[in-house]
Amino acid sequence: MRIIQVASELAPIAKVGGLGDVVFGLSRELLRLGHQVEIIIPKYDIIDTDKIENLTCTQENSPCVFEEKTYFNTIWNGKVNSLNVTLIEAGHPWQLFNRGCIYGCQDDNVRFLYFSKSIFDYLFTQKRQPQILHIHDWQTAALAPLLRKKGGRTPKMLFTIHNLKYQGRCSPEELEKIGLEKEEYFTPENMQDSLFPEAANLLKGAIINADFVTTVSPTYAEEIKTPPFGEGLDPLIKNISSKFCGILNGIDYEYWNPETDPLLPGHFSSKEKIKKGEHKKTLSNKGLLKRKLRERLRLEEVHRPLIGTICRLVPQKGVEFFRHAMDSIVAMGGQFLILGTSPIPSIDAEFHALQYHFANHPHIAVTLQNQEDLAHLIYAGCDMLAAPSLFEPCGLTQMISLRYGTIPIVRATGGLCDSVYDVETSKKPIEETNGFVFQEATSAAFDSALYRAIRMWYDHPDTWKELVIRGMHWDFSWNNPAKEYLKIYQKI
Ligand code: ADP
Repeated sequence: MRIIQVASELAPIAKVGGLGDVVFGLSRELLRLGHQVEIIIPKYDIIDTDKIENLTCTQENSPCVFEEKTYFNTIWNGKVNSLNVTLIEAGHPWQLFNRGCIYGCQDDNVRFLYFSKSIFDYLFTQKRQPQILHIHDWQTAALAPLLRKKGGRTPKMLFTIHNLKYQGRCSPEELEKIGLEKEEYFTPENMQDSLFPEAANLLKGAIINADFVTTVSPTYAEEIKTPPFGEGLDPLIKNISSKFCGILNGIDYEYWNPETDPLLPGHFSSKEKIKKGEHKKTLSNKGLLKRKLRERLRLEEVHRPLIGTICRLVPQKGVEFFRHAMDSIVAMGGQFLILGTSPIPSIDAEFHALQYHFANHPHIAVTLQNQEDLAHLIYAGCDMLAAPSLFEPCGLTQMISLRYGTIPIVRATGGLCDSVYDVETSKKPIEETNGFVFQEATSAAFDSALYRAIRMWYDHPDTWKELVIRGMHWDFSWNNPAKEYLKIYQKI
């Protein structure tokens, strides 16, 4: 099958969060299964082009009609971990993708509308059409109404919602910039926002116009049919049930592999003893990585469990609980570290103040940067990983941590429900459990799950080790999810 993925992120060259990982991992699995896959992203100035093999300029004057003017983009092709990647360098004078960031500009709507229109125009100057166009999130959502409007022999469209919170609300005039007439598209049946009727909604446009819609976990797929999670789109999502489902994300098992991870200073496996002649990667090496992590973050080397969290510091991730958890984890005998960045100035300031306050603390470390290598060391070196999210479409950190033998402590919401099963409270047999789960979005509930985990680590080290090994054997690879996506591609 010929599949094109269109997105604003692709790990590891242009990644902010899980979207980049998913586009990368799913595409690699589709490629392994023998399909033709191409990924189209903007050519951001922050991309380290050394990481792209054979990067070549393949077209210098690819036209894009925007606001009734024609601009000329430059098209680049190359390979990222054997994936065919197309980068569109915007020929628009506003330097749309040379801003030192992926998101966070005042004109993000215009930037991604331009990108979407560029893809549309690029596709139709190419002779080779894909069978499937897989559209991800609001940034490329405008492609769905554009293709629907064109009609005729166009690719079938699958639209994936990675997070319903971000919908790409824009002015109706902005739709006109890409040729979607206000009279036709700015209507309640099409792209008019249901909560803010003066705004147009790009995500809504894709939900309505795509051939099929998915989101990133079965539980989130149910949650967003209800008002508390639906962000105003729950009635619409309920209405499209016949072309909608949730598929739990996977993680790339080659990229995230504790036995070979090139970003780690040492390697380990779930094996406790290695037979003669085999390479010495045993579970005990995980302890070595814990030491390295502590050295790097200047945490004290003592007999305490190390609990980490890696996330965008936004309300969704339960950041309101972190301040309290710092004190309670230390009081319960643990150490706590955070790796994250915040796009929200007040949260950013709050965490910088915490970083300053705990600068020389032996048991707390706060790192407010994007650091891929440190993230890998945290997954490998910690004993536990906390994800106390208020809502979570899928969440990848709990899956990555399990792969590295780090036990997740999560709130029961969205994809966290579909991937973490409590060792004590779930109704599953013990062999089908892998972590600690709490229900209520409160510090007290979070504390009680932390306490249960920390006590098991101290009081039942053998049970803990079994839990670690069980977690490492879990299958969160793209193997099954990619097959589910393929079924949908085939169906449409
Ligand atoms: P979301 O997509 O909502 O941000 P996910 O849990 O789905 O959350 O994915 C987060 C991804 O981003 C993971 O791969 C995680 O390791 C990575 N990540 C988040 N923050 C950082 C950071 N500060 N440094 C490095 N990696 C990060």
